[in-house]
Amino acid sequence: TWGRARNELLKTVGKNNFTTWIEPLRIVDLCDGIAAFEAPTKFTRDWVSRNFSEPMLHELRKAGALVERIEIRVAELRAIPAAELGKPKVRKPVRTHDEADLPGAPLDARFTFDSFVVGKPNELAHAAARRVAEGGPVTFNPLFLYGGVGLGKTHLMHAIAHELQTRRPDLRVLYLSAEQFMYRFVQALRERQIMDFKELFRSVDVLMVDDVQFIAGKDSTQEEFFHTFNALVDQGKQIVISADRAPGEIKDLEERIKSRLQCGLVVDLHPTDYELRLGILQTKTEAYRVQYPGLQLADGVLEFLAHRISTNVRVLEGALTRLFAFASLVGREITLDLAQECLVDILRASDRKVTIEEIQRKVAEHYNIRLSDLVGPKRVRTIARPRQIAMYLAKHLTTRSLPEIGRRFGGRDHTTIMHGIRKVEELRGADVQLAEDIDLLRRLLEA
Ligand code: ADP
Ligand code: MG
Repeated sequence: TWGRARNELLKTVGKNNFTTWIEPLRIVDLCDGIAAFEAPTKFTRDWVSRNFSEPMLHELRKAGALVERIEIRVAELRAIPAAELGKPKVRKPVRTHDEADLPGAPLDARFTFDSFVVGKPNELAHAAARRVAEGGPVTFNPLFLYGGVGLGKTHLMHAIAHELQTRRPDLRVLYLSAEQFMYRFVQALRERQIMDFKELFRSVDVLMVDDVQFIAGKDSTQEEFFHTFNALVDQGKQIVISADRAPGEIKDLEERIKSRLQCGLVVDLHPTDYELRLGILQTKTEAYRVQYPGLQLADGVLEFLAHRISTNVRVLEGALTRLFAFASLVGREITLDLAQECLVDILRASDRKVTIEEIQRKVAEHYNIRLSDLVGPKRVRTIARPRQIAMYLAKHLTTRSLPEIGRRFGGRDHTTIMHGIRKVEELRGADVQLAEDIDLLRRLLEA
């Protein structure tokens, strides 16, 4: 019964929630109207009872179980008991691979370095993550990874944690989302265990906080995060942070935190490009070939998907998964036609193409110059530079050729356009402000 209910839950609560919260539960009893579970940590227990006991109950009943309520207790390996916290930390070597004694989020076993496809847009982030994962002396602190949704931030963080667990089982690695950090913090406040909380978080060797933008505007959580952060940095402990944008662009985040976050290495994951998308599709296809032996994949399908689907890798993966499942159900070869038929909604959604006009408008707005100047002949730097940026974006965000772009920039020659693009590429590396401007514009345009 639980097995069936579980399968249903996977659909209703979504994959992420499922792996994080439902999967770690073990059913220990189902009688007298009570379904009893064991959770690996107190944290999981509380979170699940608060957020998932309703759906669990519902699905269990649907699967035919006569249950009135759900009970969840903590499995024997509990969160670090308060009494243990004061003691000098001696790690029991056998316990390194369970997260039971650290209040972190479970790691997704598939998010490893091996399964991460490296391309131009993410090579820097990947290299930095690798460096941290070596577990050597701390070279940059924190490592701050940022980028749009579905570009691999969480994947990289989990990969770091996996790798560290293998290489340095002695290290206490704590990975959690900023939301969980806040939840833990609020809970500690409520239960008057704030000292325990502080000590726990200050006793880790590597702290990884995912989606830190979440704590923006949450004052006391920010405050606590700041102190935790400083304490760890002072002890020379590694911190890895992710967010959906650069530290300076997170609204309602205290200045002192912003500047702290900028102290280490800030790297961004750029929107995927065609080559990276194709690489990811090819890698995932290998796995599907094993899962669905005998399925034929026509030439050009992956190229088509890489070309047509947006930059979000999650969407890309979803499309491929659906395509293989669909093809195996109907017993057909995966062709371009089949892909178009079965992915019509995804393809339509990512069809929103950015136009050169939109780019020009946004760039002019951003730099507060007139559109007519942007495409006009003036050569002063304050106008010429934004113009070059607009050219650069036109090249990167549309499929227009250089002569076509030139035509829309007041009839400029394609070599002028190429020169402008090169210039921006050259400056990007050195000029942080410019790089951030471009990122921002890019995000605005692709939103
Ligand atoms: P983010 O945290 O940045 O929103 P995730 O790390 O959750 O994104 O990635 C979304 C999905 O895309 C995950 O399933 C992840 O494995 C996959 N993914 C992202 N980037 C890559 C990559 N470079 N190679 C392989 N898979 C990737
Ligand atoms: Mg994420």
